[in-house]
Amino acid sequence: TKYVLVTGGVVSGLGKGVTASSVGVLLKNCGYRVTSIKIDPYINVDAGTMSPFEHGEVFVLDDGGEADLDLGNYERFLDITLTRDNNITTGKIYQAVIERERRGDYLGKTVQVVPHITDAIQDWIQRVAARPVDGNSGVPHVCVIELGGTVGDIESAPFVEALRQFCIRVGDANICNVHVSLVPVIGVVGEQKTKPTQHSVQVLRSLGITPTLIACRSQEPLEESVRTKLALFCNVPEGCVLSLHDVSNIWRVPLLMQEQNVHHLLCTKLGLTAADKLDLSV
Ligand code: ADP
Repeated sequence: TKYVLVTGGVVSGLGKGVTASSVGVLLKNCGYRVTSIKIDPYINVDAGTMSPFEHGEVFVLDDGGEADLDLGNYERFLDITLTRDNNITTGKIYQAVIERERRGDYLGKTVQVVPHITDAIQDWIQRVAARPVDGNSGVPHVCVIELGGTVGDIESAPFVEALRQFCIRVGDANICNVHVSLVPVIGVVGEQKTKPTQHSVQVLRSLGITPTLIACRSQEPLEESVRTKLALFCNVPEGCVLSLHDVSNIWRVPLLMQEQNVHHLLCTKLGLTAADKLDLSV
């Protein structure tokens, strides 16, 4: 299985979910079977006990699992049916580890965040990524993992560490990291500012994760000079800085990414063959 990890920086609610779904659409259109996992670093076991005013409406999966709205995006964008296990929370991971500890499975060891929680996260991802979700049998080719929250949060630290280890576990050729960040416009001259993204990528790198693609959310298309500057300061090729500017509806985001050659970039990184022209009509 190949993996695409989507992380976010600067602020939450940037469009990580839409970006992750769109990445899935592009890979699906290249002929690959795609599954997805959403990580929510809160301690609630699932979204069922949370007020809709805090996180939006709960999305109920076919197996009754109560999850984040992003799971609904994945199902609609990719025409797949996910299970409660496709939504990982801090609550679920700790619950599983504590149950094992009570059974004595750790054989007298001190149970710690590293390696026990981080191993539990990685094992969970690999186990669920192997499950078919499109009605066909056999392991999906690609699993898109979205890490909720923003990198640098205390809450997501064990997940970021687990994902850093995961990059080593599966090998660099099998995982592509997409970092979604914000490029705000400040001042009367309307200049697009790169500093928040620079800092966010610095945080990501300091935690041991190297971005392959940097997806910049902005109001207007990214200016060329801004793309050049971000590439230089964030240490990626210019073509790997994407403009994910505001569009009239989220179904246009896969098209926006296709125009910027994202399917080729993803497939090259993952050692997959990319289709030249994608048919993204729904
Ligand atoms: P996150 O997963 O980062 O919290 P979401 O994927 O849920 O964010 O997106 C947050 C909001 O932004 C959603 O309402 C979505 O419709 C909107 N959105 C995301 N990308 C775009 C875009 N390129 N243009 C316009 N709206 C977008």
